[in-house]
Amino acid sequence: MTAYDYDLFVIGGGSGGVRSARVAAALGKKVAIAEEYRYGGTCVIRGCVPKKLFVYASQYREHFEDAAGFGWTVGESTFDWKRLIAAKDAEIARLEGLYKKGLSGANAEILETRAELVDRHTVRLVSSGKTVTAKTIVIATGGTPNLHPALPGHNLCITSNEAFHLEELPRSIVIVGGGYIAVEFANIFHGLGVETTLVYRGAEILSRFDQDLRHGLHEAMVAKGIKIQCHDMLKSVAKGKDGLIVETLNNGTIDADVVMLAIGRVPNSLGLGLEAAGVETNAQGAIVVDDYSRTSVDNIYALGDVTDRVQLTPVAIHEAMCFIETEYKNNPTKPDHETIATAVFSQPEIGTVGLSEEEAGKRYSDVEVYRAQFRPMKATLSGRAEKMIMKLIVDAASRKVVGAHILGHDAGEMAQLLGITLKAGCTKDDFDRTMALHPTAAEELVTMY
Ligand code: FAD
Ligand code: NDP
Repeated sequence: MTAYDYDLFVIGGGSGGVRSARVAAALGKKVAIAEEYRYGGTCVIRGCVPKKLFVYASQYREHFEDAAGFGWTVGESTFDWKRLIAAKDAEIARLEGLYKKGLSGANAEILETRAELVDRHTVRLVSSGKTVTAKTIVIATGGTPNLHPALPGHNLCITSNEAFHLEELPRSIVIVGGGYIAVEFANIFHGLGVETTLVYRGAEILSRFDQDLRHGLHEAMVAKGIKIQCHDMLKSVAKGKDGLIVETLNNGTIDADVVMLAIGRVPNSLGLGLEAAGVETNAQGAIVVDDYSRTSVDNIYALGDVTDRVQLTPVAIHEAMCFIETEYKNNPTKPDHETIATAVFSQPEIGTVGLSEEEAGKRYSDVEVYRAQFRPMKATLSGRAEKMIMKLIVDAASRKVVGAHILGHDAGEMAQLLGITLKAGCTKDDFDRTMALHPTAAEELVTMY
């Protein structure tokens, strides 16, 4: 029998990689994990966590304004970008430390280096040039922002990676894209006082979400003062006298301090030695895996964003846990990618699970749609023109709720719990016989007729 240096070698210290390494090590396996940048990966270092901290920061201006309606007088408020960045960096460093502590506490060996495959059992540690062997390898190298190399002046643009470390808060920004990152950052920068323009190639932002929520969010963002140019694209970005000059296809030019590309992410699979090991990728560079996250080489697994199934942190973690069950617990387990609750941390927020009205219409012959639109209670005294939208999509034949969609405060929190009801196969009748909790916004979900 061949003796390997490790039972498991994990490439990539992000959401999926850290979970695989930590749990395998806790089961008594000899594990090493390599990370080329910072432990915690995209989510902790330059994704979900710092983004959500920025979202909180950007909401205070409206909180201060709204306070007046409730009798408060708030003095003149100012915002200090550098202080926010420093506080955010300290929190991210703390979390990175916790990730490493979790790994070392489970006896996984932590390597601070890029790692590349040499063959199906051998990995080269780039910083030392040393090679090590492992019985099983997990590739969890995530993704990187699409840099749009065809765009003249693309090298003058930033992506979400740099947005977390800007030296100064820009006076104006153009954000390209209409997906999660573009929409979230448009709201963040606008909330912090930056003149914000969103340029999106399609007819309406957030192409994969329910139409009513897309329109409702678009209207709300425009009402706040965010410019949204749909059916538009960038032709070029060039340096001007004082900032950047952005030429668009349909709306002339825009002057901006910063241009941010948020046009999707590409799998981090280049230069990984995949060919040498015989690991197949698809045309987009994503590692091809079977239902158990196994690659074309049976001792090598891949999970998380590098496989481009669903690019979300809980999904990468779930795939890691399924890998553990399959490989180390004699319990082959397929990741379940159905009915995943998700939120767009826009302002107002979107929380959604299951099928949109449009998708349900294609899948079921008879669909019932329940819809509520109302002014949240807080907006009565604050005087803010604000509305919440809630929708339940029901398969009329089985009465099952197959989609639930919310636009408004705490939509993400509500969508997490609605996720349980949809997973459990709850029907509209189950919703109807659930007592309302008053006064909340969520009570509308059980009182729709
Ligand atoms: P990652 O977390 O990207 O980890 C991969 C790691 O591998 C990286 O640390 C990288 O440095 C390392 N690496 C790459 N190549 C090598 C190599 N050869 N050797 C060693 N190390 C290597 N998801 C949500 O669920 N909710 C959110 O709110 C959310 N917000 C986001 C906001 C932004 C701005 C972005 C960009 C993403 C966001 N996501 C969010 C998506 C989420 O961050 C990813 O889906 C998740 O991090 C994927 O985990 P992963 O383990 O596959 O990869
Ligand atoms: P998305 O896939 O969400 O959106 C990409 C956007 O860019 C789409 O609007 C797309 O248009 C547009 N686009 C793609 N290519 C081009 C191009 N060549 N020129 C102009 N526009 C283009 O990706 P993001 O980058 O926003 O985020 C990456 C992933 O990270 C998300 O899909 C999500 O899985 C995850 N994420 C999750 C978050 C959360 O959970 N809250 C937050 C942030 C990221 P079209 O719609 O027409 O295809």
